[in-house]
Amino acid sequence: MADTADHVHGPATRFCAACAAPLITRCVDGRPRPACDRCGAVVYLDPKVAAGAIVVDRGRIALVKRAISPARGTWTFPGGYVDRGEPVDQAAVRETWEETGLRVRVEGLHGVFSYADVTVVLIVYTAAVTGGALAAGPECEAAAWVEPAAIPWAKLAFPSTADALRAWIDRGAR
Ligand SMILES: [Zn+2]
Repeated sequence: MADTADHVHGPATRFCAACAAPLITRCVDGRPRPACDRCGAVVYLDPKVAAGAIVVDRGRIALVKRAISPARGTWTFPGGYVDRGEPVDQAAVRETWEETGLRVRVEGLHGVFSYADVTVVLIVYTAAVTGGALAAGPECEAAAWVEPAAIPWAKLAFPSTADALRAWIDRGAR
């Protein structure tokens, strides 16, 4: 069965990278962390950084319906994980292209969304269309231009999706 380290930190941290012994969970610097009983190595896990774009065109935003887990079948603005070494704003532009077929230009930083005990830090930009045409990419089953009043609040993918869109509405939906 999965031990605590497995459960909290994921399967990537089951074995020591230095000596290959199974990891245990130990409190280090005030937090439970994967650690090795054999050689003493401690795994300090970093957050995952994701980038997203609220693409605005004539008052509407581009939303995609996810065709993959997690949150399959729910709606979100385009976004995804930032590669190591990739500028975050460029990741937002790239993910938007891959998921929506839209070429966009980042207009500004919208917000940073992070939560206790959530691995992902989501950085969201607002963006304007410079080319392309809205079409669902391979990881999406649909794509649509959505008026602010028609945002499907009950069918959004993640708490950060709703929080980012709510903040955008509160700012005047621009
Ligand atoms: Zn070890």
